[in-house]
Amino acid sequence: YYDDETLIYLDGNWVKAAEAKADLFCQTLHYGLGAFEGIRSYATPEGPHIFKAHEHFERLILSSKKIHVNLALSSHEFTEICYELLSRNNLTNAYIRPLVYMGANMALTPSNTHHIMIAAWEWGKYLGSQPLDVEISSYQRPNPKAFPMEAKIVGHYSNSILASTEAKAKGYDEALLLDGQGFVAEGPGANFFYEKNEVLYTPPLGNILPGITRATIMEYAREMGYRVVEKLFTPEDLTDIDSAFFTGTATEVTGIRSIDGKAVKLDWEDSIGYSLFLMYRQRVINKEIQDFTLV
Ligand code: PMP
Repeated sequence: YYDDETLIYLDGNWVKAAEAKADLFCQTLHYGLGAFEGIRSYATPEGPHIFKAHEHFERLILSSKKIHVNLALSSHEFTEICYELLSRNNLTNAYIRPLVYMGANMALTPSNTHHIMIAAWEWGKYLGSQPLDVEISSYQRPNPKAFPMEAKIVGHYSNSILASTEAKAKGYDEALLLDGQGFVAEGPGANFFYEKNEVLYTPPLGNILPGITRATIMEYAREMGYRVVEKLFTPEDLTDIDSAFFTGTATEVTGIRSIDGKAVKLDWEDSIGYSLFLMYRQRVINKEIQDFTLV
């Protein structure tokens, strides 16, 4: 993720990642209280373009509010910092990781200090390009009455790591998690869609992270004339489907070949998901989307 020369943004300063320090009494380390984002930039003819920067930082501001942290920076300021981060590290196709972490505090109330660090590194398509064999996890997503699941909070990712690790130990590529009621929720770090009779289905908001890629893909699909239905469904509903895929910033759009050993009907290249993936790639790279322009 970094070498001796890599610079990160830390609380208003540019510091070497290798020399930056964090407090071992930081509440984020002990209790998982913190918020983060995962953002991508793409090389375009006019230089690096950060995809949906505004949406990502609005979500970071919201996630931080959920843990009682009011960030002093606006999404516009965050975006400017990220462009500078890319430039200082000579990055174009990069993954950007802003992290809001807490000051030292061992009490079970939020520390009244927090820190902001932003790092970036080159990162290929997470989960690769091949369609995945997916396992319905024995782990459920946390109950949204126990945690604000619409927020991207550090501690939530212990659940993701346990689910992914279990799936990989059994020879699968990735996990698919249910919610506490047994409805399909999402992957450890991605939203889920399936296709049946040329209609796309995805779980509604409530038990999932409101993915920025999810919203983008729904928009593209509707633009292409497909119906997209947000509804609750169970693993049994997935036994007779045409195709399925994950969406996420790191994952982009990644096809699913099988769920619990049962193959989907279509080859990935013949699915709606694949044409959405091509459209996504084409648009972000050709910068057709004017999502947030710096003034
Ligand atoms: N669900 C979870 C649990 C995630 O971690 C992510 C990745 N941020 C997503 C969904 C997809 O969200 P996005 O498209 O905004 O990256």
